[in-house]
Amino acid sequence: MRRLLLPTLLLVLGTAAPGAAQFPIFDAHIHYSRPDWDVYSPERALSILAAAGVRRAIVSSTPDDGTLKLYEKAPKTVVPFLRPYRTRDDMARWHSDPGVQAYVEDRLKRGIYRGIGEFHLSAADTGAPTVKRVAELAADRGLVLQAHVDDVGIEKLLTLYPKPRFLWAHAGMSSPASTVGRLLERFPKLYVELALRTDVASGGALDPAWRAVFVKYPDRFMVGTDTWVTSRWEIVRDYHRDVQAWLAQLPRDVAEAIAWKNGEHLFPAP
Ligand SMILES: [Zn+2]
Repeated sequence: MRRLLLPTLLLVLGTAAPGAAQFPIFDAHIHYSRPDWDVYSPERALSILAAAGVRRAIVSSTPDDGTLKLYEKAPKTVVPFLRPYRTRDDMARWHSDPGVQAYVEDRLKRGIYRGIGEFHLSAADTGAPTVKRVAELAADRGLVLQAHVDDVGIEKLLTLYPKPRFLWAHAGMSSPASTVGRLLERFPKLYVELALRTDVASGGALDPAWRAVFVKYPDRFMVGTDTWVTSRWEIVRDYHRDVQAWLAQLPRDVAEAIAWKNGEHLFPAP
């Protein structure tokens, strides 16, 4: 009996250790692009997300067919976003390419999309013709725009296009928490996702400046992984283990909002 106790105790402690799955996750930043689908079947990709505690996920892909592959298998899990890239080459020039505009208009006819993005943009190109058209389409259709831009870029987008809601990818990648807070205060249509922002809790401890903006704007943040290269699919589970560890350092209602409730609220299940 005594000999059995220790292994049993370790097992129980092991499952309750910090970082064990506590919150369901709405992941706001997943790609399933061509190199990914060559390695992981849709079933395998979906099982990786499920094993990481991801209940639903915003998915966009280059080309968009990857998103459709996942969406067809799991329409309740996948929140499809239309990425305006036919190939990776579109990333640098899409903002001024009439061919991309026609592609986006044509794909939107499917009627399944909840947003457009993730797209990359420099602040100087925010007024370019295809960006303008994409913003109009988003406003008309109630779609969310997921923009990978710096803080100058997101400010310009929100000023030029006040109607659609924006989901700011990676919180600008390097923008400090105080800048993010200032923008959230000024723009009610701004939402922020935290993919790749390890500075939120470097070393595992939640950063006080991030904590302050999470508590002040609990309904405006989401977490995300960003499977931008195929190797990222291998670490989705570890990544979310770290996310769970810093979420657990927040008040429970704030953590639940950021973990999944904000995503559910913005993108109610079909
Ligand atoms: Zn991305």
